[in-house]
Order: sequence, then C-alpha cells, then structure tokens
Amino acid sequence: MLHYAETHFRFPVSRLYRKEPDILIDTPFQIDPNVECPVWLISRNTDCYPVYINEIFGEWKNEKDEKIVFKIPFQKKLTEHFHFEELKFAKPPAGSGFYLLQIFIKYEIGEKTKICERWNYPFLHPKPIVVNFLREPQPKPKNWVAGETHCHSNYTADSIEFGASPAVLQKAAKALGLDFVCITDHSYDLLNDVNFQKLKKDVAELNSANCDNTADKMPLLIAGEEISCGSHRRENVHLLAYNNEHYVEGHGDGGRRWWNTSPDLTVAEAAKKVGSACFAAHPKLEMMGVERLLLKRGHWHLDDILGIEGGGVEFWNGYRGRDFYEGRKLWIECLLRGHRILPWGGNDAHGDLNSYVALKKPLWSLKCNQEHIFGNVRTVLPNFPPTESNLYITDGPALHIEQVGNKCLLHAKSNADFGEFLSITLFKGERGKHFERTISFSDNNFEFSLDDCLYARAECETTFGKFAMTAAIYSPLA
Ligand SMILES: [Zn+2]
Ligand SMILES: [Zn+2]
Repeated sequence: MLHYAETHFRFPVSRLYRKEPDILIDTPFQIDPNVECPVWLISRNTDCYPVYINEIFGEWKNEKDEKIVFKIPFQKKLTEHFHFEELKFAKPPAGSGFYLLQIFIKYEIGEKTKICERWNYPFLHPKPIVVNFLREPQPKPKNWVAGETHCHSNYTADSIEFGASPAVLQKAAKALGLDFVCITDHSYDLLNDVNFQKLKKDVAELNSANCDNTADKMPLLIAGEEISCGSHRRENVHLLAYNNEHYVEGHGDGGRRWWNTSPDLTVAEAAKKVGSACFAAHPKLEMMGVERLLLKRGHWHLDDILGIEGGGVEFWNGYRGRDFYEGRKLWIECLLRGHRILPWGGNDAHGDLNSYVALKKPLWSLKCNQEHIFGNVRTVLPNFPPTESNLYITDGPALHIEQVGNKCLLHAKSNADFGEFLSITLFKGERGKHFERTISFSDNNFEFSLDDCLYARAECETTFGKFAMTAAIYSPLA
C-alpha cells in the first residue's frame, strides 16, 4: 500500500535515508490513439533539499529498434515541496504499439553533479518505462463511461508514500481514454474536513476549467475518501466513499498514533455518515505481518459486506493475485445468499502511472512491480455513481449484458491491442442452492434466458491475458 515511495522517514534509523529529494519520471502505461502521451518530472521534499536539474535526456525505442533520441535543457532549480512538471519533447506517433522509454536526469545537489536513470530511489534498479500506444480506443458500449475508482493524490502524503496531483491524474486519465477518476485519499492522511474541502475545491476547479470545451473534454474528477473503519472483529478495514459532503474520520491504522489502533467508527457507522453507496476496498488484501500487528489491519468478511448493501466490493485491486480470487469468492457468496452487491475494480495507485514502487522492507529496501498501475483496471457502467446493477470491470475487453425482460444478450468485444477471446463463460446462480452453473460460449454475442435462476453473470479472458467480468443481473420478476 505504499507507491510513490517516500524515503525520508528515519525512525529509528533508515538505510533508505539520504539528503536528497525524491525525483522521478512518470508517464501512463497505455495511450489512447487520439491523445498525446504526457511525461512528467515529479519531485518531493525539494523544499528541504533544493535541487538544480541540469538536463533530461534519453531515447524511445520500439521492437524494430527504431529510435527517437531527445535532450531537454531543463536548467531550473526546484525548491517547493511538490513539483509536477510535464516535459515537452519528441514522442512516438499515435497508435504505434509498444515503446521503451529510457530516460536520465542530470542534477546538481550541493557541490555534486549526479545522473540517475528514471528515479533517484536508493537501492532500486531503474525499471525501463514501457508505453503501449494503442492502435484502437479501448472497446466499451456506446454512452457508457469507464473510470478509475480507487487512486490517491498528493493529499495522501505521509512518512512512507505520496500520490500525484489531481491535475496530473486528470491528464493521465485523458491519455488512458478514461471518462472519470475517483480520488480516494486516506482518512488518516486527510486528517480533517479542512483538508477534505481543499481536495474537493481543487477537483471542482479542475472540472469547471475543463468542461467548456466539449471537443477536448477532460475526464470528470470525483473527490472521495478511503475511510479506515472497524470490521465486526474490530480490525481496521478500508471503505471507499464518493462525493461525500464532509470528511469522515478514521485514524485507526494511519500509524500516527501508535498507542491507539482502534477504529474510530464501525463500517456501518462510517457508511451512514457517507450517506450514499460505499464500497469495500481490497477485501482480502495480502499484507505484511507488521501491518496486522502494529496497525491492526484486517480483512473484510461476509458480515461486514452485508453492512454496505447497495454498494460493492473492490476485489479487483490492480492485479489478479490471490486476493482477487478470495475476494471474488466472498462476493459470489453474497450473491448466492441473495444480497445484491456490485463487483468493483480499481487500482489503488498512488501516482504509479507506469509501475508501482513501494517499500519492500520498512526502512530497508524498495520494490517495483506492475501490481497497482493507475487506470489499468477500469469499472465501466452506464453512469457514475451507479444507478443500476449493470456494469463490468476490465483491463481490456468489453463484456456487457443487455437485458430485455427475461431475455438477455451478452456482448463481448476485444481488439488487436487486447487479443482474441480464449474463453467466454456465463455463470447462473441457482435459486435455493449454494452453487453457480457454468456455460461456456464460443460466440462473441449470444442470447440467454434468466429462467428461474437467482442471477446471471459472465467472465471472459483473452490470449493476451486480459480479463473482464460483469456484475450479476437479476430477473425483473425476482
Ligand atoms: Zn486501502
Ligand atoms: Zn487506497
């Protein structure tokens, strides 16, 4: 849960600490064919450790070994706490497939001139930046909207992590072809309603500045909160809220008050304060022993989920690991018991536009992988917030159920960027029984009837390992 890593936390001593700001380059992992690829220089703590950036240089390279070489004479001193600056330089053409970006920063700090590749994180080998310039826009049903439902901005900034600014998130979302972004900063980082109202104001300003020009419309930002609250076992779990009017407190697992890790509110109390549909964040997240022990973090269980009926479960939290399968199992159990809970997909990115950087061992080492990339898993639905139970979550193909009375049409669509279908499966929850019946299809569009089943839902997977799954749909007679 760490992301753009902050390396200046040194209690009692840290191998990662050094007298330099964090400096890094970031860009979305995937670019819609109609948009230019934005690349940012990002720094934190440049107020404490001012740095002079001499130049930024490097090259783009594709699989045919075609290169685009660039050099940016930056020549600027950075002195504010956060710095997010978009870099203008030669980019690969739209729709041109995968490119590798190798990028170097030459900077002066004190008397020393240094060069780092991609970032100056200590003991973390620079991972090459890979960008997929999509050949076609990501498929989705006409008039539906696709969005990121769980990400963090620089309002999440504490001793171990920080996110990108709302403006960066909005522009990155545009490049990814998203329609909306929910910024869900931690209750324990927002701290109070003053900060939450500031986030809401930033978001409102960015939305109004961009709404006039419909031809170049920017994605809608939604201010929300990831609230730490108490499960029925009195452990800290995370609850996603959107568009809540006021800040909802939750400091249990923030690590700012070691003497007290008790949740401030129960799940039901927090949901009541929010006043609209809430979503269980990463219900079965794998965590470090230290998080369980020192921060009293726990998992969501069936009893807790039932406290947020009308909402959903974000069991697809960036990647499909063990927590995805366990979370999906929990969700199916809710469905089979007759509870109408939505499946939800987000990424929990803190910045992390191209790869995810996090602490591996506190105070000791960092890690980098592809687990929580901004905009990778998207929730696609007729409108946000959801007003009906029809939606799908995906990292590529479109998969949606069109319902006409008791008859249903399943539409599956992929393209050259996401691969051909390996499988399309329909699941029917049997009424009064505790299992789902599965039916496999080879056709991309097919008709089925709900008969007397409790619900139906579908999943698909492509040859490129891309996946999509729908929410459960119900018979109008039920
Ligand atoms: Zn969380
Ligand atoms: Zn989160």
